[in-house]
Amino acid sequence: MQIKRIIILICALILRIFLPMKKITLGILGGGQLGRMSAIAAANLGISVHIFTPENGSPANDISAHTIVADYEDEEALSTFAENVDYISYEFENIPTKTINYLKKLKPVYPDSSLLEVSQDRIQEKTFLNSIGIETTRWQKYENFTSLQETIKTWDTNTAIIKTTRFGYDGKGQIKYTLNKTNENDIRALSGELIIEELVNFECEISVIIAKDAQNSVITYGPMLNQHKNHILDRTFVPAGIKPEVEKQALEMARNLAEKISLRGVLTVEFFVTKDGKVLANEIAPRTHNSGHWSIDACAHSQFENHVRAVCGLPVLPPARHSDAEMLNLIGHDVDQLDVYYKQENACVHLYGKHDVREGRKMGHVTFLKTKED
Ligand code: AMP
Repeated sequence: MQIKRIIILICALILRIFLPMKKITLGILGGGQLGRMSAIAAANLGISVHIFTPENGSPANDISAHTIVADYEDEEALSTFAENVDYISYEFENIPTKTINYLKKLKPVYPDSSLLEVSQDRIQEKTFLNSIGIETTRWQKYENFTSLQETIKTWDTNTAIIKTTRFGYDGKGQIKYTLNKTNENDIRALSGELIIEELVNFECEISVIIAKDAQNSVITYGPMLNQHKNHILDRTFVPAGIKPEVEKQALEMARNLAEKISLRGVLTVEFFVTKDGKVLANEIAPRTHNSGHWSIDACAHSQFENHVRAVCGLPVLPPARHSDAEMLNLIGHDVDQLDVYYKQENACVHLYGKHDVREGRKMGHVTFLKTKED
C-alpha cells in the first residue's frame, strides 16, 4: 500500500516537471479601457488575453496577446476567437446578446447573458430589481403624450425624466420633462421605446461593485461617492463620506442582489441617495465600472483582478483597501493637465492609449491616494 502511494507521488512529480503548466487564455469582447485594464490585471495573474472588437487600434489591443478586428455579427471570426480562448467575458453592456448566445455554445461566457439582457433594457432592469425587492424611483413605460401627463399627475409632480429604454449612457438618450413646457416633439426626438422616471431630488449618487466567483463567494467595493459633470462621471471618492446607515443599506441591497442572481464576474449597481436618506437603485451593469478604477491603486486586489479571477475559475479575494482614494477622470482636453499630475507624489496616472482627443472622450484617469482614515 505504502509502495503504491510512493509510486503515485513520484509519477505526479514527474508529470509536474515535464508537462508544462496549462496557461489560461481569456477572451474579452470589446477593446475599450475596461478591457485594457482587465488585460493588465490578467497579465499579472499569468493569464493572456485575446480581444474581439470592431475597432482598429483599440486601447485593449496595446496590452493583449492577440486582437481580432471584426463585427460582432461575424460568426466565422467569433468561432476563431472562441477556439483560441478558455473563457469569454465582455467589457461593455451593449454587446448584442445574439453574439453572446452564439459564443456560449462554444466556450463559457461570464457574466451570463441573462444579466446582460436585463441591463440592456431599462424596463426589464427596473422590473427585475423591483421583483426582488430592490427599490427604484417610480417609473412607467411611455405610451403616449396624454398618458405621460396623466402619470405625472398621479405622481403629484410636474417633472420627470424620459429615457430611451436601450443604448442610453452618460446622459445620452434622455430628456427632462416639465409639464406645460416640454412638448411632444421634444419627446419624439428620442428614438425607440421610452420609459418615464420620476425625477429624484437626490442628495448624492453612489455605487457598489460586487464580484462573485464559481464557488459563490461574494466580495464588494464601496459604496463609492460619484460626482458627474455634463452627465459623465467626473470624480469618485472612497470612502463615500455618507451616513453609516445609508452605506449599510446600499451594501445590503447589493449583497441581496448578488444572492438572487447567477453571477460569475463583476457587477456594478448605481444608486441615488435621496435627501431623506432613502437608497434607490438606478442602474446595474454586469461589468467592471468607472467608479471602481481607484481599486487598482488603493487595494491589494482591484475590481479588474477580481473580475478576471471569477471568470477564469479562480477565487475572488476581498479588496483589502489600504488607502483612501479620489479618482479623477481625464475627459477630452483634461489630459493637457498631465504635467501637473506627473509631478504629484500621491497621484497614480493611468492613460488609455487613445490618440485622438475628443470632447467627452475618456482619455485616462488619476487616482489620488490618501491616508486611510477608517
Ligand atoms: P443614467 O443613464 O440612468 O445613469 O442617467 C445619467 C445621469 O442622469 C445619472 O447619473 C443622474 O445624474 C441623472 N439621472 C438619471 N435618472 C434620473 C432620475 N430619475 N432622477 C434624477 N436624476 C437622474
